[in-house]
Amino acid sequence: MAQLEIHQFPCLSDNYGVLIRDAGADVVASIDAPEAEAVKRALAEKGWRLTHILTTHHHVDHTAGNLALKAETNCTIIGPRGEAAKIPGLDQAVGEGDVFTFGSFQVHVFDTPGHTAGHIIYWLPAADAAFVGDTLFAIGCGRVIEGTRETMWQSLEKVMALPPSTTVYCGHEYTLANARFALTIEPENDALQQRAKEVERLVAAGQPTLPTRIDLELATNPFLRPGSPDIRRRLGMVGEPDWKVFGEIRSRKDRA
Ligand code: ZN
Ligand code: FE
Repeated sequence: MAQLEIHQFPCLSDNYGVLIRDAGADVVASIDAPEAEAVKRALAEKGWRLTHILTTHHHVDHTAGNLALKAETNCTIIGPRGEAAKIPGLDQAVGEGDVFTFGSFQVHVFDTPGHTAGHIIYWLPAADAAFVGDTLFAIGCGRVIEGTRETMWQSLEKVMALPPSTTVYCGHEYTLANARFALTIEPENDALQQRAKEVERLVAAGQPTLPTRIDLELATNPFLRPGSPDIRRRLGMVGEPDWKVFGEIRSRKDRA
């Protein structure tokens, strides 16, 4: 079976760039394009030739490199139908339920509105990998900028429904601050306590804390745990719907 090669690299102040490659088909995609130079350096390092950009949402720290990379490589830019007009150089608009091929891999698209109104994520089941942009972060989630807390919760539920073994690539390295906040929401969560220590260690060593996994997030990410009786008791929200508990956690993080 084909192997998906994945190369993650830091860029800008706290973004991640990710390149994926199906060697058999000689296709290489950049997941978002935070800045052209960093993506070009990463391509040169690997000796890879860019054929695609898969855009998650329109924010400039995810699209600033689009036009320069397209001018240089003539790559195909695929991105969210719901905000197509805001994606520089967009060739192919995709949305909920769409499946397209990348080399020998099928790429499934989900709409995950909330951070932006048209945000999408990409799931490659045969690679057991998902690329979620600014919808989910390690121990956190994106700010709700263009949607409601309820739609953001529905978007996160789609991410939570991916197989537990899925490796998840996110747009930013926010994990240390997220872990410290999470401990104020669910301090008695043993898995979270352990993970927070591991995150401290990685960050002190200058190592990335990403990618993450669905099962790890389900166990430690308070934004995915509004059903936790401990969280509900702490927030005084026993009996409230999940999305409201999620919304309260999101509000507290916005103020933190
Ligand atoms: Zn963003
Ligand atoms: Fe971002």
